[in-house]
Order: sequence, then C-alpha cells, then structure tokens
Amino acid sequence: MINIAIDGPAGAGKSTIAKTASKELGYIYVDTGALYRTVGLNALRLGKDTKSEAEVVPTLENLQVSLRFVDGEQRVFLGDEDVSTAIRQNEVSMAASNVSAIPKVREFLFDLQRDIAKKNNCIMDGRDIGTVVLPDAQIKIYLTASAEARADRRYKELIEKGQDVNYDDILKEIELRDYQDTHREIAPLKKADDAVLVDTTKLTLEESIDHMLSVIRERI
Ligand code: C5P
Repeated sequence: MINIAIDGPAGAGKSTIAKTASKELGYIYVDTGALYRTVGLNALRLGKDTKSEAEVVPTLENLQVSLRFVDGEQRVFLGDEDVSTAIRQNEVSMAASNVSAIPKVREFLFDLQRDIAKKNNCIMDGRDIGTVVLPDAQIKIYLTASAEARADRRYKELIEKGQDVNYDDILKEIELRDYQDTHREIAPLKKADDAVLVDTTKLTLEESIDHMLSVIRERI
C-alpha cells in the first residue's frame, strides 16, 4: 500500500489540500484530528476537564470511535452516532488538543490509524503521522503557514459556516494550540527528518494543491 503522511499545525490547509489530492490519486483521505476531536467531544459531553488525565482516561473505557468511508469521504462515529459535524464546533478544537497530550489517548487511537494505512492507499493527515504513526510512509509532507495566515483562513471558514467568531480569538487559539502541540512530551508536532516542507503562507489554495500534487507525483 502507498501511504502519504501529511503533518503540520492547525489551519495550514492540510485537510482541504489532502482531500483534493486524494481524489486525484484515488486514495482514501484519513483525517486523524477527527479521532482526537471525538475523544474530546465525548469528554466534554460527560462534563470532564479535558486537561485532566485522571478525568479523561476513564472515559476511554468502553469508548467506541470508528471511521467509515462513504465514496472516499470519511465519517467519524462515536458508538453508532455520526459526529462528523459535531466535532467541528470551535470549542471541540481545544478539547482535542488537550486530550491529545494524554499518552493513553494516543495509545487508544494508534492501532485504528495503523490498520487503515495497512489496508488502504491513503493520505493521512495529523501531527505525528510521519514521525510516529507511519514512520515508513513512502511520502511525507510537512505543511505549514504563518499563524496569521492560518488564523485568517480559519476565521473565514467558520464565518462561512455561520459561527459567531472573532479573528483575534482565533489567532490566540491557534498560537496556543501550536504551543501545546509542539511542546507536549508525547508525539509532539514536528517535521520528520525525511519530510518535504511545504509553506503555503503566500500560496492560494489552488497553488498549494498544485504544489503538493507535484511533490507527490515526483515521488510515487
Ligand atoms: O487536525 P485538527 O485540528 O482537527 O486536530 C485537532 C487536535 O488534535 C490538534 O490540535 C492536535 O492536538 C490533535 N491531533 C494530534 N495528533 C494527530 C491529529 C490531531 O495530536 N495526529
């Protein structure tokens, strides 16, 4: 199977770019952030402090998180409930970042990610795919952009979805998530040594997609 790992900070365009590229290539696209978001959503619903290991770890018992692919599109399930939309609420982003720093949460989601990659040609995006989940991926890309460019994109995306958000809050949240994701002890966000760096700060979405496809095609 061919596995393409894409890592990078929140809002760099990983999901949009990877989704388009996977359609072009006929691969499935796996958004691993959705898994951490589902664990975070579940903890929030149970009224847990998502930063507290002691409160979050017991929520993993009997927790069923699964991914299904319908026409190549990923849906994420919490038990039998399709939570693909619910996990996109803004407050779930921070909850996901919080629970993702807990080693037992990462362990809990590890096999699920590995199994999908073993059985499918896929583009998998996340924070630790090239470094921890799929260290042997044939192609690794580290996709990034300045915090301001990412906040601007996220702001527009949320406004389009009708959410009531403010740019400065989003920028602060992105900077905080960057800090948490790059400084946690386990599987911190970092570029794998053998990953190709793609910076999309000055690129339009179309240019980013073209660039990424050319990086992939050169290597397949
Ligand atoms: O990619 P997304 O922004 O949806 O991810 C939400 C959070 O989940 C991230 O901020 C990060 O803390 C965590 N995450 C992770 N490892 C991954 C994917 C996401 O720690 N492979």
